[in-house]
Amino acid sequence: MQKIQEFLAGAKEEFNKKWEQNPISNGKVDDFDRLRTLGTGSFGRVMLVQHRTSKNYYAIKILDKQKIVKLKQVEHTLNEKKILYCCNFPFLISLKFSFKDNSYLYLVLEFVGGGEMFNHLRKARKFTENQVKFYAAQVTMAFEYLHSLDILYRDLKPENLLLDTNGYVKVADFGFAKRVKGRTWTLCGTPEYLAPEIILSKGYNKAVDWWALGVLIYEMAAGYPPFAADQPIQIYEKIVSGKVKYPGHFSSDTKDIIKNLLQLDLTKRYGNMKNGIQDIRNHKFFEEIDWLAVFHRSVTPSFIPRTEGPGDDSHFEEYDEEPMHMSATNKFSKEFTDF
Ligand code: AMP
Repeated sequence: MQKIQEFLAGAKEEFNKKWEQNPISNGKVDDFDRLRTLGTGSFGRVMLVQHRTSKNYYAIKILDKQKIVKLKQVEHTLNEKKILYCCNFPFLISLKFSFKDNSYLYLVLEFVGGGEMFNHLRKARKFTENQVKFYAAQVTMAFEYLHSLDILYRDLKPENLLLDTNGYVKVADFGFAKRVKGRTWTLCGTPEYLAPEIILSKGYNKAVDWWALGVLIYEMAAGYPPFAADQPIQIYEKIVSGKVKYPGHFSSDTKDIIKNLLQLDLTKRYGNMKNGIQDIRNHKFFEEIDWLAVFHRSVTPSFIPRTEGPGDDSHFEEYDEEPMHMSATNKFSKEFTDF
């Protein structure tokens, strides 16, 4: 079995080669039959589609250029496409085609049929400790891969983690992902998952993703996030206070790994110290995880979402469908030249 470190070394070369290229457009919207909406975002929606000739199913992310410009998300959208185009990792969503037309940008992604982790978590109330470890290990490896390429993810939450039909995780939504060597300052993410240094407008780095992993482990094990309140400002106060209350059923290993990830002091936060990710991998919490076997997807997950066939969309909520409005002129062509 190929070792993870060997894989990462090769992956860097592959990623850098692609990064130098300008990703080309390879398709058009009429190549696909649009079946139904799977999810929505602030400037578009994700739909289940079927390719007219191959009959393969995909999830197509349709972004409205006008809304992106209005919400000042042009840079983020260009990052999203470029990073998705260059990445290749078992626990990250993969991009199959991308193109644009007069009104919209399109990202055609592999369809991940098991649905959002968010829905499974709410249904189960909380995950078993084994499940928490299994999912957290995959997110840890996904971040190890991204960080080795100087990419911050910045939007970890159960809504952005999809389960595939084998029960493994796929990290979706690269809308806030960014390649940065060193620090960055943009305030983005989801209130409950923001690291204190983002809230305090300090320059921040990849350690924000390790903080978010601590929030995720807590939420998966408890069924609710560690810092919660009605208003974002109250959530932020709790986050910067650094105080965390743990449910009585948490094991001491679970508490300890969370404490080391939800660490205000950046010089002590796991993932951000001299040994990097090794401090996380070698923590007792992950003792039973066979990292290489998980990486090679040879572990049988304890929970496998039930699906019937490749285009089964039953794990996704229903949404109102809206017609697309195609402009007669090419909108914002300059802003999106690089898409
Ligand atoms: P996003 O704007 O990328 O966060 O996508 C919004 C929602 O669409 C997600 O939370 C998922 O429910 C759904 N979604 C996104 N990508 C996929 C995919 N590749 N396969 C299935 N569903 C997806």
